Amino acid sequence: MIDFHSHLDLYPEPFKIANECHARGLYVLSVTTTPSAWSGTTKLETCSPRIRTALGLHPQLAHLRKSELPLFAQLLPEAPYVGEIGLDGGPEYKAFWQDQQMVLSRILSLCEQAGGRVMSLHSRHAATPILDALESYPRAGTPVLHWFSGSQRELARAISMGCWFSVGPGMLSSAKGRALLAKMPRERVLTETDGPFVKIENRSALPWDADRAIESLTALWTASEAEVRDQLIDNLKKLVSYKTEKNKWTAFI
Ligand code: MN
Repeated sequence: MIDFHSHLDLYPEPFKIANECHARGLYVLSVTTTPSAWSGTTKLETCSPRIRTALGLHPQLAHLRKSELPLFAQLLPEAPYVGEIGLDGGPEYKAFWQDQQMVLSRILSLCEQAGGRVMSLHSRHAATPILDALESYPRAGTPVLHWFSGSQRELARAISMGCWFSVGPGMLSSAKGRALLAKMPRERVLTETDGPFVKIENRSALPWDADRAIESLTALWTASEAEVRDQLIDNLKKLVSYKTEKNKWTAFI
């Protein structure tokens, strides 16, 4: 079981959740929203060899935390995974669009200089600008578009550019989300929750709720539950092996 986009550090009791992830054998990419949160959040890795921490600067915080870009640059050599980064084109964040663009460009440029990273990207109302940015920095690494909500045309472009996708109960609750998933190459799909932000049955989604995507995947791929789980684990192995080959980091699978 895999949650490739979890905000573990934002649960009220992160160590309790991380220990439960370990007990359940869950692989977790623990994304952060600010560079200053990274060092503290890496301590959750002590709970499980299957938890990895990503260095992030969330687009909704870009205007407030752009001053942390030098810290991002300083920490990046230690961080094989980057996220949450991206752009948010929603009306409430449009006023900060220039800051968002500047922060994302700087991060992609740093990732290029560092030899590439696996990156978990937010692209709400901003699929085309995200793909434009990724095209400008083709050596930034392997993009994983989390909770993709663009158009079918934008999805086709993302696929042609080599993007991966992480899908979860939030995205799959809508017919549009399921129609997008139907077109994603199954060898480039991982599961996620985006908890604790995502709510399920009036509570925060927990990392193991990523399993709720399995039902949609068995239907869409006309595969058994075991085949879907094998495919997802194979995908994770392939994704993290890019990094281990290039940069000799220990993979978590
Ligand atoms: Mn998120």
